[in-house]
Amino acid sequence: MAICEIISVGTEILLGDIVNTDAQFLSVELAKMGISVLHQTTVGDNPDRLRNVLKIAAERSDIIIASGGLGPTPDDLTKEICCEFLEKECVLHKESLDRMESYFSSKGLSMSENNKKQAMLPVDGVIFPNDNGTAPGCAIEKDGKHILMLPGPPRELKPMFLNYAVPYLQQFSDKIIISHNIRTFGIGESVMAQRVDDLLNSQNPTVAPYAKEGEALLRVTAMAGNKEEADRLAKPVIDEICSRLKGFVYGIDEPNIETAVVKKLKEKSLTLATAESCTGGLIGKRITDVSGSSAVFECGIISYSNQIKAKILGVNEDDLKNYGAVSEPVARQMALGALKLSGADIAVGVTGIAGPESDGTDKPVGLSFIALAAKDGTVVVKKLLTGKNGPGCRDYNRLVNASNALNLVRLYLENNLN
Ligand code: ATP
Ligand code: MG
Repeated sequence: MAICEIISVGTEILLGDIVNTDAQFLSVELAKMGISVLHQTTVGDNPDRLRNVLKIAAERSDIIIASGGLGPTPDDLTKEICCEFLEKECVLHKESLDRMESYFSSKGLSMSENNKKQAMLPVDGVIFPNDNGTAPGCAIEKDGKHILMLPGPPRELKPMFLNYAVPYLQQFSDKIIISHNIRTFGIGESVMAQRVDDLLNSQNPTVAPYAKEGEALLRVTAMAGNKEEADRLAKPVIDEICSRLKGFVYGIDEPNIETAVVKKLKEKSLTLATAESCTGGLIGKRITDVSGSSAVFECGIISYSNQIKAKILGVNEDDLKNYGAVSEPVARQMALGALKLSGADIAVGVTGIAGPESDGTDKPVGLSFIALAAKDGTVVVKKLLTGKNGPGCRDYNRLVNASNALNLVRLYLENNLN
């Protein structure tokens, strides 16, 4: 199996000025092809250090993919050093020069002299055209060692990699890797891991737990000679996990819970309305982030003040006084008020203390009440205590409250409310 190393060239990466998303992208794509990335190296725009890094890489890898430093300025020297390393001569590549000239003229610009340097390419190299910029990429080979050079800007690197480098790399790939993310809500990472404990040691597919923004997910990854075979390996394991985590799984490869909710609302031809206090419209925002949500989202009311809770949603003023805005009866009446006002099939109401300051009562930061009311007479209220306070708690609490409200809608739609 071919071994690959990624060399990211750029002093700005070492300084922490930019995040090395190119390496991440390349690793993900190479894994899909079954090409093992065993090292990622980052080096500044320095010829001697780049030479050293290439030397080390060539000793332990068959394929070296270098990103960055293909620009026109004197500090862009990836191509020069890589070609020198594999003893390749560079000559003017007429086709690339013409492409660059027409790229500039299409933007109403004239090409400067130093751009010509980018059209100097290795004689027997494979040239990767740049469809989104000037610097072409290329691949060179000597004694079984391959060096691929790609431009640094992600919007140039990604399409060049997919359209030109992948076909070049196909010669090394006899395996593909597929991954599926099983997304859950309402179960902690450790409890989830316990339930599937025995599966976490399996080799193909592998099963790995992750936690992210108040959610836990399991990634199932299978490797095989083709996609069908990889899917065949993954399927029984995915099915087993879903049955062990029943009620918690909101989707497989679903980007987020709001997408799952919009999908389920569409399936059932039902509509949703929201009455939000502490989340300030976040639930509505997340629902309307999903394309096509207009078919299922009726309205969102941000009832922040007590006055509007009473006036628009009909929350009882005595209840507001006696129990406070952050209380079970207020959440319930917010949901019922939104249901009535909107004519939607389902409504959720959320009231809570996002923090970091409390609401002047003895209620703790992170406390919230999340209610769901539906046309069929269903009314439920959940009390939630996130336990998060102090710096940063506000964003977290709002996010988790919104996610819990969305999850309540999901459970209702799956007839799983209890
Ligand atoms: P240019 O023609 O723009 O100079 P280049 O191929 O010479 O391209 P660099 O000069 O190394 O590339 O980087 C240009 C820009 O591309 C950086 O400022 C950064 O925004 C982005 N970039 C470079 N390397 C990476 C990386 N590894 N991950 C993400 N972005 C990167
Ligand atoms: Mg540059």
